[in-house]
Amino acid sequence: MILPWQQADWKRVQEARRAGRLPHALLVTGAAGLEKGGFARNLAASLLCSAPDDGGLPCGHCRGCHLFQVGTHPDYLRITQEQPGQVIPIDSIREYISRSGLTAQAGGYKVVVIEPADALNMAAANSLLKTLEEPVAWTLIILVSSRPGQLPATIRSRCQTINIHPPAREAAIQWLAGRVGGLDAALLLDLACGAPLHAVKLAEEGVLTLRGQLLDEFAGVLAGRNDPVVAADNWNKPEPALVLSWCSGWIIDALRLKAAQDPPGLINPDQIKRLQAIGNALEFSELYELLDKVYEAIRTLGSQLNSLMLMEGVLLEIAAAGKKLKRKKR
Ligand SMILES: [Zn+2]
Repeated sequence: MILPWQQADWKRVQEARRAGRLPHALLVTGAAGLEKGGFARNLAASLLCSAPDDGGLPCGHCRGCHLFQVGTHPDYLRITQEQPGQVIPIDSIREYISRSGLTAQAGGYKVVVIEPADALNMAAANSLLKTLEEPVAWTLIILVSSRPGQLPATIRSRCQTINIHPPAREAAIQWLAGRVGGLDAALLLDLACGAPLHAVKLAEEGVLTLRGQLLDEFAGVLAGRNDPVVAADNWNKPEPALVLSWCSGWIIDALRLKAAQDPPGLINPDQIKRLQAIGNALEFSELYELLDKVYEAIRTLGSQLNSLMLMEGVLLEIAAAGKKLKRKKR
């Protein structure tokens, strides 16, 4: 898939291809989080397909597409680090050079993607430079880098640069809104310096933390440590529908964990200990009553009652179940 902010560059490259004006080396740059590597892979797939569509997208069915999808295309090589943060050693480039004199086995393009190109060590960069000085027909080298300034100028000057720009703010917010589960898309985009995929990542990380915090409050209210009214205010700050669906998932998991030692298909497999404790603290009937209360709140969302009152209703019910539990213990 070509992402919305890559469309213009994609069109330009495909036009050059149709006109037989593709360069021997491309440098794909732009901020992190714009999926530059995806752009390079899509371009490689497009060049290795024997029947791309009018927009240059690979057909997905030919032999070239099949080999590319399973990762065994003989005319495609991706050079990268073994571990993030490491350098790309000269051996990787030597391996490529030893193969580069050969013509493409499938009779079309040969494509090598180097990502991130700024991780090339000096020897590897020099070695690459030699191949850039003696280009081979029907071979395209695609360098991908968020920090092109780290590359030797001699390499940069031999590549045609594609600078992928972040999308316009409004378009990015619109694209993000459907992917961040009700969180503030505009705020996330700012936190990610305008790079939409980075914003999605932030959202995923932040959402997980938030979910953990709210589950802590659930346990705290049940144990009488947290004030249900204060907790309701916190629960009401993110998207209420999302929080209530989390809450129903916690109770369902607590029920499953109470019923079986190692139940399959948990909704929150990362929270087993906390959910087990909740399950152990309450009777089955109390858990079902709580679940009913949450479902009722989900059904009522968006009606006359405001969501804060619904959250208070749920958390007061949890607090009441906790108090009953304390009395029993006495
Ligand atoms: Zn194809």
